[in-house]
Amino acid sequence: VLVQQFANTPNTDYAQQTARQTAQQAIIQVHSQLGQTYWSWVNGQYLQTETLVPSVNPSNPDEIIGHIGLLNSTQADTAVAAAKTAFSTWRHTPASERIACLRRAGELMAARRAELAAWIVLEVGKPLREADAEVSEAIDFCYYYADEMGRLDQENNDTDLPGETNRYRYFPRGIALVISPWNFPLAIATGMTVAALVTGNCTLLKPAENSAVVAAKLAETLIEAGFPAGVFQLLCAQGSTVGAHLVKHPDIHLIAFTGSRDVGCRIYADAAQLTSGQTHLKRVIAEMGGKNAIIIDASADLDQAVQGVVQSAFSYSGQKCSACSRVIVLEDIYETFVQRLTEATRSLNVGSADSPDTKVGPVIDATAQQRIQDFIEIGKREGDVALSMDPPSTGYFIGPTIFTHVSPDAQMAQQEIFGPVITVMTAKTFSEALTIANDTDYALTGGLYSRTPAHIEQAQTTFEVGNLYINRGITGAMVARQPFGGFKLSGVGSKAGGVDYLLQFMEPRVVTENI
Ligand code: GLU
Repeated sequence: VLVQQFANTPNTDYAQQTARQTAQQAIIQVHSQLGQTYWSWVNGQYLQTETLVPSVNPSNPDEIIGHIGLLNSTQADTAVAAAKTAFSTWRHTPASERIACLRRAGELMAARRAELAAWIVLEVGKPLREADAEVSEAIDFCYYYADEMGRLDQENNDTDLPGETNRYRYFPRGIALVISPWNFPLAIATGMTVAALVTGNCTLLKPAENSAVVAAKLAETLIEAGFPAGVFQLLCAQGSTVGAHLVKHPDIHLIAFTGSRDVGCRIYADAAQLTSGQTHLKRVIAEMGGKNAIIIDASADLDQAVQGVVQSAFSYSGQKCSACSRVIVLEDIYETFVQRLTEATRSLNVGSADSPDTKVGPVIDATAQQRIQDFIEIGKREGDVALSMDPPSTGYFIGPTIFTHVSPDAQMAQQEIFGPVITVMTAKTFSEALTIANDTDYALTGGLYSRTPAHIEQAQTTFEVGNLYINRGITGAMVARQPFGGFKLSGVGSKAGGVDYLLQFMEPRVVTENI
């Protein structure tokens, strides 16, 4: 297998009129396909179910994107059985075949990029540019993990001696369960799924219920790309019941999860229990939350800092685990910064995700909207409101909200809100700013705006985050360039889109031969 030089897929250039037209046509086209029914793909066919739930457009909840058939546990068990059967052949397919399937999946997604972006806009309320970037990321995952598998599959004779060969080779673990989130319904689902597949595992994708139509589109491309029956399966099901059942299933070897801390911690604990008949320990990869901070010192370029905070805090309505939710500003520039941040935020258009001038769309659903509103009430008790914007009334909107004068140990400064709400705090010294930044359960992303080399140096060694960004925003990690993931209660496992990621999906074996 040839090792290729990886290059990120470029995003669509909407400055081009043709690109804007294509995007608009795709939205119209997708609109005409709303309301269809989507079934799980089990053992090479679509499996009808009794329970159907609607997936709605968060910008306009009266609009049903699709009806999703939910599997029960018995049906989910048939998928596990099919995966087990399929594994006996899939485990022996040459890596080159699996790699070819990934490259085809990448090509198919690229061919459908305007349509896929339109589904993302409508199903999860993500504004178009961000939805388009998400398609790029999904394509990147296909090509990058294809390249990576090629690299890992190479023969290496570095450790041979005269009369002795040593072969270090990777084998698939078995059956992988992928539990994907709604906030990157295409990119993250694709990343975890194709990583599991290319490493030779039979893979069950259980997407978040409220982004199952996008998952069904992903399934279409993977099926067309040639993953055989039982090798890739799509399991639409309720997470709290059937998802939990699958996590405990003795035939599952590996669970790749991205989502909330509560669910991730439960999966980690449940997966650790041996059940009868189980002869292996499960591997869990969990990417969970963050309470990410950006520090701004007195030497920072404030134009840059304001723009970076606005982007990191409010893009996709703060619903990224990488999003900025705390800003820690050095005392001298605190008032100036807050004033400029407030003005810059006020200029953001809040509205329907499919409108071209929208900067901040809705949040995902009514439950999220309520949870964020409850946090805003807490924030009013814990600090001052520097900005509260009025959102549109239909749809699950929350206006961007900025709190000031909040104590670092307040709930607003400690709990993940996952919405367009931030807290701006102050610190007397740079060291104090770092202490506040690190005083959290999480360690995912962090940022620093500074032109002081000593501060940049100190942040690199002391800021406890998986991804540290200096003088730029803290979201939008690119495959290969910024392998993504954290530690502490932000997750367990190695970085997505990085050189260690695929290793987690395999068991290495060494064969020593005397010749
Ligand atoms: N990888 C994304 C970023 O860097 C965040 C992923 C997530 O929210 O789970 O912004």
